[in-house]
Parts: sequence; C-alpha cells; structure tokens
Amino acid sequence: MFKQMESNGAQRLHFCSDPATGLKAIIAIHSTLRGPAIGGCRFISYQNDNDAITDAMRLARGMSYKSALAGLPHGGAKSVLIYPDHPFDRAALMQQFGQFVTELGGEYITAMDSGTQISDMDNISMKTRWVTCTSEIGDPSPHTALGVFEGIKASVKFKLGLQSLSGLHVTIQGVGHVGYEVARLLHQAGAILTVSDMNTEPVKRCQRDFQASAVAPDDIYSVPAEVFCPCGLGAILNDEHISQLQVPIIAGSANNQLAQEHHGDQLKDKGILYAPDYLINSGGLIFVALQYAKQPAAMIRNKVIRIGDSLLHLYKEAEQSGTAIHRLADERAQSIIASAGKMTSAA
Ligand code: NAD
Repeated sequence: MFKQMESNGAQRLHFCSDPATGLKAIIAIHSTLRGPAIGGCRFISYQNDNDAITDAMRLARGMSYKSALAGLPHGGAKSVLIYPDHPFDRAALMQQFGQFVTELGGEYITAMDSGTQISDMDNISMKTRWVTCTSEIGDPSPHTALGVFEGIKASVKFKLGLQSLSGLHVTIQGVGHVGYEVARLLHQAGAILTVSDMNTEPVKRCQRDFQASAVAPDDIYSVPAEVFCPCGLGAILNDEHISQLQVPIIAGSANNQLAQEHHGDQLKDKGILYAPDYLINSGGLIFVALQYAKQPAAMIRNKVIRIGDSLLHLYKEAEQSGTAIHRLADERAQSIIASAGKMTSAA
C-alpha cells in the first residue's frame, strides 16, 4: 500500500466504514500544498477494495494536476464510495459521507463524479460545508463542454492553421452531459458531426438536433475526420484504437484517455495532436471551485474560455522542445505543485 502511495505521490488515504448506512468510503488526498484538496465523489461498484483504492489514488493525482494547471488555489483528491450490494438508504449514506468529510476539517472538498448527482451533494451538504456541485451551485458539465469547445478551436488553429470550425468534421464518442453540449457548440460553429454512444437515445437526440451522422461504438475510431473528441470513458487511447485513428487531432473531455503513458508517445510519433485531458476538461473544476469561492460568473466564464490559450502555449512549447505534449503537461503540473511545496516549507 505505501509503495503504491509513494509511486502515485499520494499524501494521505482516509477510510470510513459505517455498517448502519452501508457506507464504505475511501478519500485519497494527493496534495494539499496549493490549498484544500478538491475532487469528485465516485459511487460505483468495484471488483475488490484494492481496485477502489487504486482508482481513488489515480484520480486524485489527476485532480492535483488539473487544479495546478488551471491555477486554482487547490490540491487534488478523489473519494470513492463502494456501491453496496444490498438495499440501502441513499440519502442516509450520503449524509454519513458528509459527516466523514467534516471530520477531515476542510482538508478535502467533495464534488459530483460518476455515479453521483446534485441531490447527493445536497444530502452531503446537510452534514458538511466542504461540498460543491449542490443545487445552489449547479451542474459543471456545460462549463466542461465550453472548455472542450475552446480547446478544439485552439487545437485546430495550431495543427491545421484554421481560425474557424465551419465545415470541419468532428467525431464525438459519448454524447452524455458533456458530449451533447460539445456537439451543440460545434454544430453552432458550423462543424459536421459524427457521434457514437452505448445508448441509442442520446445518439437520436444528436441526429435530430444537429443533423449528426451516427456510427456503432466500435466504429468511431476509424472514421476519417479533422478532430476526434472522446467524451465517454477513459483508457480508450490504446494500441488497438490508435492504429485505427484517421484524425490529426484528439481533443475531448474523458478523464484518463491514455491507456498508458507510452500511448501519448505513439500519438506524437503518428503526428496526432493530443490535448491533455486534465487541461482541456478543466472547465467543470474551474466552475465548481470558483462558484464555491463565490466568484462572479463572468470571471469564471472568462477563465474557462482561456483553456484554449493555455493549450496553445503548451503546444508551442512542446513543439519547440520536442517533448511529447502529455509529458510536458505532467512536468508543468508537477513543477507548479513542487514550487508550492517549497514555499510552504520556507514559510
Ligand atoms: P455521462 O455519463 O453523462 O456521458 C457519457 C456518455 O458516454 C454516456 O452517454 C455513455 O453511454 C457514453 N459512453 C461511455 N462509453 C462509451 C463508449 N465506449 N462508446 C460510446 N459511448 C460511450 O458523462 P459526462 O458527465 O458527459 O462525462 C463524460 C466524460 O468526461 C467522462 O469521462 C467524465 O469523467 C469526463 N469529465 C466530465 C466532467 C463533467 O463536468 N461532467 C468534467 C471532467 C471530465
């Protein structure tokens, strides 16, 4: 366990078991050097406890990097609630989790993630003030989508030298909360869309609302287009899928898109521009963190829009140094976190 924490860079792991409500929770704190650690609360089934711990740690590191590159005064964390295999009272379980968050005294601020919804955050908020994404704050997805849209525009400008998306073909994998909104913005900008989803209903909505073409989930990788926008699940950029790709740009919201580190190098070797996921999808985090801090809406929106500029800077630097973009993004984030550590120890 400690070896795993060391290789991940995780600062602390907290566990909570409450048989009365069925709560089994893990909170992984990757770093608090830049401020209270912020990160979503996942509520899904796991094969075993180790898988849940590994998931929490891996996702917590991603949140630290996301916060650092977004310039937010936060560290990164993630909580994982293991979905009970028996009937349970959801509201009571979430309130108990809120109590657990309170006991950490502000070290961790929780938020929505896979398997949780705004009503869960409202229940959590009955027991803690260290929670965002409540009904008062709202759904981060449209802000994530806006950041992805700006990221696509920046990527097209850098790679293809084009100022407009009009007439460009974009393939979108997964048209749920984020993917559908990205599709809407792209359609408005004149892009031509091909979409895929595991469910038929969201695909039908995109066909109806944006005249999108549809393909089966396994076929999206081989569709020739200017941009592939993954907005489904992670780890889709693997040997098999990369060999099928016929796009110059990958820019989408899904977390942890690279199955392994070396897949980012493969993309570079193939001349495919890859927008690092935790940078292009940081709009939602920027929104929830700054709404929590009661910042004005216009300022939050401007910061989300500037994700495009951040990507452009990163692309130019990667080109000049010859470093793969995903490695440069990691280096940048690690150095921002490390310099916060030096300031803390010097104080
Ligand atoms: P969602 O559950 O609303 O939508 C995901 C959609 O993708 C679903 O419709 C699902 O059926 C589909 N899907 C999953 N795997 C697929 C596959 N292999 N092929 C085709 N379709 C597939 O989730 P969301 O909130 O839209 O988030 C999408 C992704 O973006 C996730 O990876 C999430 O972690 C990431 N993300 C979301 C936010 C946010 O604000 N919601 C912020 C940052 C990152």
